[in-house]
Amino acid sequence: MSGAARKIRLIMELRRSGVGDTRVLSAIERVPREMFVPAPFVDQAYENTALPIGQGQTVSQPLVVGLMSQALEVGERMKVLEIGTGSGYQAVVLARLCRRLYTIERHRSLLAEAEERFRALGVNNITSIAGDGSRGWPEQAPFDRILVTAAADRMPKTLFDQLAEGGIMVLPLGAPGSDQEVQRIRKRDGHPVVERLFPVRFVPLVCGNLPE
Ligand code: SAH
Repeated sequence: MSGAARKIRLIMELRRSGVGDTRVLSAIERVPREMFVPAPFVDQAYENTALPIGQGQTVSQPLVVGLMSQALEVGERMKVLEIGTGSGYQAVVLARLCRRLYTIERHRSLLAEAEERFRALGVNNITSIAGDGSRGWPEQAPFDRILVTAAADRMPKTLFDQLAEGGIMVLPLGAPGSDQEVQRIRKRDGHPVVERLFPVRFVPLVCGNLPE
């Protein structure tokens, strides 16, 4: 099967599995996932599976990218923060949906590779830094939307504080290795309104100093 045919098959699968938002589907369709995975996995780039990207991390399963992007209800004028750049794949999908995407990664080597991909693709509305994303990005706050792509035990309050009134944060919650669930948290009158969405498995959100 050709790359294009595999991509169409994947998009149909996402649609069947609950990704109905056409803006999200077309953003996914326009991002070449094969550029975000190491050479041995290029053949599997359009399979609906998570794939290793080095440093013990993974690029998320396309269905999870689709469902989380959809749950975030991103508008084209919005300022969005992503925690956990990883390969940069989810960042590029979000960047196609919003005005400016800010993204934070704790592994400098992964960040450098992701930034190289942003350049190669000519995506110029992403601002990225190495850091502990659980602290957010106070200089750029508030954000209309926040997406966390690593699992925490509880919602990091610092991130909620950096969400604009009426804003939405989508994040996986739960202990590492155990079942986790994606939750959508809306900020209404300064308070969190929580919806539980679907089960997932993410690598843990690691707080504190960056690795060497
Ligand atoms: N969104 C990524 C997949 C994320 S995997 C993609 O599309 O490829 C989760 C990422 O979160 C990993 O790269 C991990 O290093 C990073 N991470 C974990 N804890 C973090 C923290 N506190 N701050 C920033 N990044 C973190």
